[in-house]
Amino acid sequence: MKRHDIFTIHTAPFYAYRKQIILRQAQKLKQVFPDFEILYSIKTNPFFPILQTVSEFGLGADAASAKEVSESRRAGISADSFHELDLCNRLAQEKHAVLPIGIRVNPAFSMEGTEGGPSQFGIDEEQLFSPHAFDDFPALRPTGIHVHIQSQILDADQLTAYYAHVLTLALRLEHLWDTKLSYINFGSGLGIVYDPNTQKPLDLDALQKKVSTVFDAFRPRLQAKFLLESGRFLVGESGVYVTEIMDIKISRGKTYYIVK
Ligand SMILES: *Cc1c(COP(=O)(O)O)cnc(C)c1O
Repeated sequence: MKRHDIFTIHTAPFYAYRKQIILRQAQKLKQVFPDFEILYSIKTNPFFPILQTVSEFGLGADAASAKEVSESRRAGISADSFHELDLCNRLAQEKHAVLPIGIRVNPAFSMEGTEGGPSQFGIDEEQLFSPHAFDDFPALRPTGIHVHIQSQILDADQLTAYYAHVLTLALRLEHLWDTKLSYINFGSGLGIVYDPNTQKPLDLDALQKKVSTVFDAFRPRLQAKFLLESGRFLVGESGVYVTEIMDIKISRGKTYYIVK
């Protein structure tokens, strides 16, 4: 067969995904975080067969828009600001109900272990701890927290320190609110290799050992369910982009592929 025959793909360009790779990655996450509920971050790739694959495996969904919610049919409310808390409080008061609510927190720490920065997501930790922060929201009962500050971390120590920070924050909020949280969502952070020349994959064996030490230490003090979100780690390595190469050009030793 001539080279031309093999490479002429009349439907290209297209993306192709390998289900096996998504299942392999999901399995790895389950191993490192055995007692966690793992949520697929739909915004990573909302392609329906991918949603089916992660849901078949038993993962939940982390949705960021009404469409994502309806696609995943995940119920529940989470507030991102005091304004949203106010709206939820009013709705609950109209119905004479007490509304359990999850709160996204913009923590006072960063992934590097330094001070946390500003963010469009979540309520700043220090605002939550300011006196009377919840006085205006008598119809709300904080029941869970969600933290997600950074993606694409390849260092097991950094991730472990981050989880320990989130757990400490959860205990402080339980104390502040005089409640037991029903869930702690640690967000994501787990990275993948984009450039093998400059990046080393996350050492999952090391991560497993380190995080199990941290979670075992905190587990007895918490009743909360632990949740983890993941996007790129689950699906980032599963896809290829198939297109036709129209021409190949070499310039000073570097090869360029001219694609359709
Ligand atoms: C995008 C996003 C994720 C997924 O991030 P990855 O680094 O790709 O795993 C998880 N949680 C939230 C809140 C996000 O916005």
